[in-house]
Amino acid sequence: MDRYKKQRLRMVEYQIKSRGIKDPRLLKVMETVPRHLFVDEALRDQAYNDNPLPIDERQTISQPYIVALMTEALELTGKERVLEIGTGSGYQTAILAELADRVFSIERIAALAGGARKLLDALHYYNVAIRVGDGTYGWKEESPFDGIIVTAGAPSVPRTLLSQLTIGGKMVIPVGGRHSQSLIKLTRISEDLNEVKKEDLGGCRFVDLVGEYGWEY
Ligand code: SAH
Repeated sequence: MDRYKKQRLRMVEYQIKSRGIKDPRLLKVMETVPRHLFVDEALRDQAYNDNPLPIDERQTISQPYIVALMTEALELTGKERVLEIGTGSGYQTAILAELADRVFSIERIAALAGGARKLLDALHYYNVAIRVGDGTYGWKEESPFDGIIVTAGAPSVPRTLLSQLTIGGKMVIPVGGRHSQSLIKLTRISEDLNEVKKEDLGGCRFVDLVGEYGWEY
């Protein structure tokens, strides 16, 4: 067993399971996906620590527990089409690719999208489409989605994204101020966009969602 495998098993035990994440498919996948490859070589030994880490372009790879919490909230069974806003390193994308049927991911910074694409190809994640652009508009041509995950902090829930969810679809998004947000889970329950079920999953801290329905650059 390689060194990183041991670190991964420990990460799942002490950071993920111990905090109440139960989805067995998700736990298995987090024991498998090589998170250390999604960070800079100099940071590899910190890849399984209980915190976010810097990636290029002044962005961050989310803390493992937050990835688990957000992913579990989507209640994936393997059949879903999922939209991700904020590809970043591509780590969350890989987790989704293992658990859903198809993943569509939008990243506004081309260099990050390119890096993630290369790595996801090398790891054989062929059910992932990545596009460079402002994800606050969603991805209309590929909608509706059974799940939408926004991995950057938003001032409010973009209605464009809600409108691209299936009825019964789940969306998870950090909403709040620029320095701290609440992780919100929304379930669309009818055609009426005002009729959504809303749950607060707790406090979090993400980099800005920058765009038309996000923060100003
Ligand atoms: N899930 C990623 C998180 C990266 S940080 C990971 O764990 O690696 C959030 C990412 O969202 C950044 O890469 C940032 O460039 C991107 N982002 C911010 N606003 C965006 C927008 N409007 N559309 C698409 N991507 C956006």
